[in-house]
Amino acid sequence: MTDPARHPDRDRRHWLAQAAGAGLGGLTGILLGGCAPAAPRGPRSSGADRFALGIASGSPQADRVVLWTRLSGPDLAEVVDVQWELALDEGFRQLAARGTEQARAADAHSVHAEPAGLAPGRWYWYRFTALGERSAVGRTRTHPAPGTAPPLRCAIASCQRWDHGHYAAWRHLAQAADRAGGELDLVLFLGDYIYEYGGFPGRVRQHTGGLCRTLDDYRARYALYKSDASLQAAHACCPWVTVWDDHEVDNDYAGLQEQWLNVDFAARRAAAYRAYWEHMPFPKSARPGRDGGMRIFGHGDWGSLARILTVDDRQYRDPQACPRPPRAGSTTVATRDCATLDDPRRSLLGADQEAWLARHWSSTHRWNLLAQQTLMAPMNWNDPASPEGPKVWTDGWDGYPQARRRLLDTLAQRHIPGAVVLGGDVHANYVADLHLDPARPDSPIVASEFCGTSISSEGMAQSRLDAMRPHHPHLHHGRSDERGYVRLEFGPDTLQATLLKVQHPRRPDSAVGISARFAVDARQPGILPP
Ligand code: FE
Ligand code: CA
Repeated sequence: MTDPARHPDRDRRHWLAQAAGAGLGGLTGILLGGCAPAAPRGPRSSGADRFALGIASGSPQADRVVLWTRLSGPDLAEVVDVQWELALDEGFRQLAARGTEQARAADAHSVHAEPAGLAPGRWYWYRFTALGERSAVGRTRTHPAPGTAPPLRCAIASCQRWDHGHYAAWRHLAQAADRAGGELDLVLFLGDYIYEYGGFPGRVRQHTGGLCRTLDDYRARYALYKSDASLQAAHACCPWVTVWDDHEVDNDYAGLQEQWLNVDFAARRAAAYRAYWEHMPFPKSARPGRDGGMRIFGHGDWGSLARILTVDDRQYRDPQACPRPPRAGSTTVATRDCATLDDPRRSLLGADQEAWLARHWSSTHRWNLLAQQTLMAPMNWNDPASPEGPKVWTDGWDGYPQARRRLLDTLAQRHIPGAVVLGGDVHANYVADLHLDPARPDSPIVASEFCGTSISSEGMAQSRLDAMRPHHPHLHHGRSDERGYVRLEFGPDTLQATLLKVQHPRRPDSAVGISARFAVDARQPGILPP
């Protein structure tokens, strides 16, 4: 590749010489994207902007983290060498690791660098160089070592539909993370990173292209979303742990079943999974294999404080119960009209993943975080006095009540400490107590739930939620009219949760304020006042 230091452009040479040497001094503000929302990347000579899709880090463990980027711009060769550097300091004076990865056309020129053997529990800075250009700088960190228990400050976020709004929530998160007291160790992204839909006229922003079906379609959609400066800044702040939901592939899909029962769905899902791997900071080992599947479930330990379990509720699930033909996806049904709901063989996670989860709850950590996709608390969408009985939405945990029961039983029987269920998907903030028997609010509380609202995707009418609040005593908060994210600070004894709300979701520069705060005691599940 071209040696950037020999690039003919004088300004550029000057910039790179400064960047490579010691004493960045006043240049750091220009060079370091850090968490600034519109990270400038220094002067460009070619105008190609090879790092226009930003950078990211993720899948952290105590000794490793994955560094991600994807090259863009015209005339990229089949294989392009990309240098990466990981430093102990923002000025790259002390390098912890460096290497070269090959960005290949076959992988959409994505890069998944995997520095290992790192020190636990510390911040690192990283950047990439390719084709004479240097990327913005990102900040990342390893999980703390076992036996240590520093607090964990994380955010949960989900559902960033491009054509429903701007990403003021990401802008706020990145800016807050840059200030003392607002630092974030981790973002847990819980699904719907992209939406597969084609463009609709009159929206605040446009999806380019039609409905995503092919690998190229999905790649272009990720490139569109990742062009957003606020999203890039949020990635540059701290490592992310990500799981998908349905819209990374197709609305309401279940395993290999598409909502309209299209027979070519397996190939489409494989393309979508492939594009997901290409665009997320997963290790190379997660790259989908010949069967088209991709394992995204796993766990990480925040020292001895918290175990973080991430699960996949799409790839292995049984189809939604009692669909309304000709469509096969979700619906709302009266439970008395749908015996399938109670079939104990049905699973949201699939038998293997359920067994994996049962084995991986920790009895030695103070907290067990279940990072999953959707609302676990029961919701009856009918009038409680209706002779029809409760009505439930079949796509979420209410559609798989026996599987939910098995999960909650495990928590109760094994006295799993500090169980906190984290979710997204429903475009509303729900804060709830999870009772052992969801139908009986007098049964013991076995976990606390924070189902965070969407970054930008629109929610249902608040009046619908208000109408059902009185007969849902386990709900402490239910707001479908809030966009934003949830900040969670786990200490040894207490979890402090702050729900952040975007004032004007259609404005990129909207203010973001606090909607509500809650707390949880590590020794006693259930939602408390802050
Ligand atoms: Fe969504
Ligand atoms: Ca969803």
